[in-house]
Amino acid sequence: MTKQLRVLIAQGHRNTTGGNPAEIAITPIAARAIQKALRAAGHIADMVQNDNDWFEGSLDAVGREVVRRHNLAPYDLLLDVHFEGDANNTRGVFAIVPDGDGLRTVSPYLGSDAWRTNTLDQSYALAITREVSAATGPSLRKSGVKLPGVMSERQTGVGSKGYRLAMFGYTAVARDRLVRLVLELGNITGDADIIKSPGFFERAAQGVVHGVQRVLVESNVVSISSAKPVGIPAFGTMMQLRQPLLVTVTVDELNARKWAETNQPIMRMLNAGNSFYARGWIVGETVEGNPLWWVMGRGLPTDLLWRVWSGGTDFGVDDILAMSRKEAA
Ligand SMILES: [Zn+2]
Repeated sequence: MTKQLRVLIAQGHRNTTGGNPAEIAITPIAARAIQKALRAAGHIADMVQNDNDWFEGSLDAVGREVVRRHNLAPYDLLLDVHFEGDANNTRGVFAIVPDGDGLRTVSPYLGSDAWRTNTLDQSYALAITREVSAATGPSLRKSGVKLPGVMSERQTGVGSKGYRLAMFGYTAVARDRLVRLVLELGNITGDADIIKSPGFFERAAQGVVHGVQRVLVESNVVSISSAKPVGIPAFGTMMQLRQPLLVTVTVDELNARKWAETNQPIMRMLNAGNSFYARGWIVGETVEGNPLWWVMGRGLPTDLLWRVWSGGTDFGVDDILAMSRKEAA
């Protein structure tokens, strides 16, 4: 197995705040199935609700409880398990990703908790909803989402009153480590035929496990251990270019970070076609086999020196190394 995750699961609406009775009736079944499947796959999977599938407190209290537990022993992933019940019976599986900057919250936080900064949350949302959809049959939700199966917090309509989703608001303080998702496993009415089919909950739970595994295998979270190309200097080695180099971003979204590791703060999001000057490069975390990161700047004292992974730009590892050898010669 790739990595043991610490997952905290919440059963949607199983608290004193209430909700749709048909949804409340089945969120414990889905959540328990997910817990069982994650444990069987070697992960730690805890439940907010007690053995009677109940939390004696409001939704706000659930949010505070998640943070309390996280502070005792940090979690990697929060799964708040729900079934959609909108007026249009919109079909499909989807996950909601935190996107709360600018919305009102009773629990202020430092830094950003926006769609563009929650890239790991997006990765989990994409992988889990794809795998659940493949395992159970409901399509990925296509309307009112940013990507098939992935909705931003702002698209839920809750923010129309100006406030964040309580679960995301309270847990924003934990966002550096904790990936937070509200997982909607289908529409309680629109997908009723699928939800009521035999083995649905177990198949959905397997989908969650496969989605998690997919992120762990594919994402840069575990690629720290992946092999470096030969001829790369030691971690932390910095090379300055004689002339600043104009570099163009070739992937949809690329983070400029404070330091050359994927757990370092995101300073800015770059998009495909954006260009920036690099004054040099540094050997940082190996992502998809490539440990070279650009150091942004034009060689001026005012340079911000943010790090950008070179794999998302128009220069390959060999190009960069050849460039330096030529300059050194
Ligand atoms: Zn719900």
